[in-house]
Amino acid sequence: MRILVVEDEQAIADFVEHGLRAEGYAVTCSRDGEQGELEALSGDYGLVLLDVLLPGKNGLDVLDTIRSQHPELPVIMLTARGETDHKVQGLDRGATDYVVKPFSLEELLARIRAHLRRPDQRQAAALEAGDIELDFRTREVKRAGVDVHLTAREFELLAYLMRHPNQVLSRNQILNAVWGYDYDPGTNVLEVYVGYLRKKLARNGDPAPIETVRSAGYRLVAPRG
Ligand code: CA
Repeated sequence: MRILVVEDEQAIADFVEHGLRAEGYAVTCSRDGEQGELEALSGDYGLVLLDVLLPGKNGLDVLDTIRSQHPELPVIMLTARGETDHKVQGLDRGATDYVVKPFSLEELLARIRAHLRRPDQRQAAALEAGDIELDFRTREVKRAGVDVHLTAREFELLAYLMRHPNQVLSRNQILNAVWGYDYDPGTNVLEVYVGYLRKKLARNGDPAPIETVRSAGYRLVAPRG
């Protein structure tokens, strides 16, 4: 599955490109509206992420051209916070969906999964790690068969840890993936949320299997195989 990213802001383009590659997508980036439009029309892509304010040609005009030639191609607009107009105009002009900057990788992946039409090209709809189950379609989480109610951010954090079982994930990796590329490096939000997850996932004296790895990060421990 090849995804086209049309975004002129280097930091965002890099963040999206690395994040999507790590999830197994092939990614091509374009920094300019005109060039992005040509790429999008090539028919090589299964989905397009499209910024609005671009050099060369405005993203909304690029969207018009894509729609005239590929009415079915999923196009997710990347809109700036506060630019409600862009969001509305994008949807009016046929955008499939939008994400508001700054967005997290998990949020973006959720939108992409929702709009890739062929089931064999979707990412797993559910994850399992030991006795923890997570379902992306219903947003349900269970531990040992018992429902665990998580907030959206807790869900994203758990999903990210479960995607990489038994792997030590650094604070930066996790913050990038779950909170987005513009998090405050001094934040303790990750520690706080790991605390919430541990509490909510603990069952009958069995602690949540999220380990702190000293001066490295965190690891979700799951039986292998
Ligand atoms: Ca831009």
